[in-house]
Amino acid sequence: MRRVSIFGATGSIGQNTIDLIARDPGGYDVVALTGGRNIAQLAADARRLKAKIAVTAHEALLPELRSALAGSGIESAAGAAALQEAATRPADWVMSAIVGAAGLAPGLAALEQGATLALANKESMVCAGALVKATAKAHGGAVLPVDSEHSAVFQGLIGEDIAAVERIIITASGGAFRDWPLEDLARATPEQAATHPNWDMGQRITIDSASMFNKALEVIETREFFGIAPEKIEVLIHPESMIHALVGFNDGALMAHVGAPDMRHAIGFALHYPDRKPLPVERLDLAQIATLSFRAPDEARTPALRLAREVMETGGLAGAAFNAAKERALDAFIEKRIGFLDMARVVETVLERFSGRRGHIDAQMTLDNVAHVDHLARQEADMVIGQN
Ligand code: NDP
Ligand code: MG
Repeated sequence: MRRVSIFGATGSIGQNTIDLIARDPGGYDVVALTGGRNIAQLAADARRLKAKIAVTAHEALLPELRSALAGSGIESAAGAAALQEAATRPADWVMSAIVGAAGLAPGLAALEQGATLALANKESMVCAGALVKATAKAHGGAVLPVDSEHSAVFQGLIGEDIAAVERIIITASGGAFRDWPLEDLARATPEQAATHPNWDMGQRITIDSASMFNKALEVIETREFFGIAPEKIEVLIHPESMIHALVGFNDGALMAHVGAPDMRHAIGFALHYPDRKPLPVERLDLAQIATLSFRAPDEARTPALRLAREVMETGGLAGAAFNAAKERALDAFIEKRIGFLDMARVVETVLERFSGRRGHIDAQMTLDNVAHVDHLARQEADMVIGQN
């Protein structure tokens, strides 16, 4: 039986992963499930999947978790150290679906014990792509993309030589505000930003989709995953979210990955890789869909994409600063302390302040140094937000 652990089990990706695993009760031995505040869900899934241990990120919630698991024989634990410990428990396949930079350390620990890491947590690649890949290599593990665009590119590259790739095109739905007039965006609320036209995802990534910060993170993720030059990565607005990515080869061929917007496809692909197995996702009827549409991103509406290009040019630990500043700006927007367009301004200001600090940006990519830059960038972002 395959031993699996799910980090971020109570979230959108985590629940989709559990949906697939629960369909084959005899196929998996569930080691660890982790969550945050949603203790009822965590405990219910731990019982249903007969997990060995359930961990909440919040120490104050341990008594609640303990009582929800009473009599089940399932171990319970809480806090960052407990999350790390759970990640060291031997598993063959680990889903990394915590949201934010908090997902990096458990993912690295899972790789250190030789697991295959299914990586939904794009922040890991943005903050420390080289470290993630080196850790996988050193311990004989593998990192498989779960982000739909990156899963699509990965599938398009099977059997291909990366040297023959001319370009990679990742698509973007454009998020909640793609058809809003630019002048209205300043007044957009978190509630409005948190509704996605096609995908059902967690609140944070949904708002990042509206601001295009999600696509900005994904451009960097593409560079890190596939080792491709930034100028070969393109973003294409595709409102229907049916084509997830395209790989362009040096003979002019464009290979597109087409599928319904359902994350169980990318999760299931990573779960069964290198095999393909039937998945409970919609089969598209292209005759009925009839048309798909595309357009170039409007630069005036997508400062996040420009910032991602700058981050790739800067290199080093700039991705960690970028992500941390984005996380704090997003917190402030959700708490209504800054406006929708202020998020990009905050991130840009933090990056400007970091550009003079090459010592931090050029430091060796270790977990400690990444965490330090993350911490400093959050402080800077909070200062910028305070002055807003
Ligand atoms: P959700 O917000 O739905 O879920 C996040 C999960 O992480 C929950 O289990 C949450 O616990 C837990 N969590 C939150 N904060 C912390 C923390 N500080 N430490 C430990 N655990 C924490 O997010 P999504 O499932 O939408 O996204 C997860 C990751 O996958 C993100 O990196 C996202 O960018 C990526 N992704 C998501 C896609 C999607 O379709 N949703 C698509 C592609 C990528 P709780 O809810 O119990 O508080
Ligand atoms: Mg994506």
